[in-house]
Amino acid sequence: MESRLIQNSRVLVTGGAGFIGSNLCETLLNQNNYVVCLDDFSTGHRHNLTEFSGHRNFQLIEGDIRNYKDCKKAVAGMEYVLHHAALGSVPRSIKNPVLTNEVNVGGFVNMMFAAKEESVKRFVYASSSAVYGDSLELPKVEHQIGKPLSPYAITKLVNEVYARNFSELYGLETIGLRYFNVFGRRQDPMGDYAAVIPKFIQKLNRRESPQINGDGCHSRDFTYIDNVIQVVQLAALLSTETIRKRRSLYMKRRNGLESRTSDDSVLSEVFNVAHGERTDLNKLVEILNKNLSLWDDRISEVPVLYGPNRLGDIAHSLADITKAKEVLGYEPEMKVQLGLEKTCHWYCYGAQKD
Ligand code: NAD
Repeated sequence: MESRLIQNSRVLVTGGAGFIGSNLCETLLNQNNYVVCLDDFSTGHRHNLTEFSGHRNFQLIEGDIRNYKDCKKAVAGMEYVLHHAALGSVPRSIKNPVLTNEVNVGGFVNMMFAAKEESVKRFVYASSSAVYGDSLELPKVEHQIGKPLSPYAITKLVNEVYARNFSELYGLETIGLRYFNVFGRRQDPMGDYAAVIPKFIQKLNRRESPQINGDGCHSRDFTYIDNVIQVVQLAALLSTETIRKRRSLYMKRRNGLESRTSDDSVLSEVFNVAHGERTDLNKLVEILNKNLSLWDDRISEVPVLYGPNRLGDIAHSLADITKAKEVLGYEPEMKVQLGLEKTCHWYCYGAQKD
């Protein structure tokens, strides 16, 4: 039985001061790992580190992945790299494609090359459901992507191409995780580029109307953070042999799908990471409203506003998570409703600020 939890290891989490990264750092520290966080605090926060920054096995390196020296310093002595530093948000990338590309592509290559030089065991990185672009297929299956709709989506697609290339050229084992709308504790509700769930929670908590872009029928495959923490560890730990064997079975079962490349001796895979369930935005607001009203019953009277559709947004997103389940052994244990309940509770009672 292979281990499902990273323990007693040295792990670099880039973007460790962000939403997903800080949750990974905290879990890894609780599991007796030595954790290095590389972050430039461009979108992450010091308050995300408060609960564990004093831990004896935690090291913060304040640095920029666009600077190769910072990447080298952070990866020194590490066994695993969980690369999560990036500039997220489709609208941000439409407004500033140059910066998004510098960080998400330039920084990615720096980090991956530094990881290769250090001969890390595995490089696990955050890709995105954005790579499916204009594909109308539902649910989304890993081998069928469409045309990217934003510079952000392009950067994530380029990451995947680079990862495979590095695996082939240098033998670096890479696993890309296409996250679908992750949510949970410590997700930033502030600013123009905030994700929908923390933004709506904050609005409702202030008894202000959340604004839905479109008619509210758009849907997303919302994924609770604990499911992400589970799959990242599986992606890092599972032996190369097991992944190859299970992948080959998965491919055969899936109508005799051919391998994407001629070289199966390298390990470079991508997986959807989601819950595998669709929730539309009207339903989302209803659930949030119900949960937050337990805290302040006047929230139940707050009306929803509707605005125009947003550029670069797709109508529906739903993942086929069979590959992650069958190959990595991923089991999304936390259901969306319960995750939303926990998240609302955290924002009402648990959130800390700088
Ligand atoms: P986040 O913004 O909370 O975290 C990103 C972190 O990277 C921040 O702490 C930020 O300061 C850091 N960072 C940015 N540029 C950097 C640089 N040049 N050098 C060093 N650090 C830098 O975002 P998140 O939601 O935690 O996302 C983590 C990763 O997952 C990102 O790669 C994102 O694209 C990807 N992703 C997230 C979601 C989601 O739903 N949250 C969905 C798909 C993909």
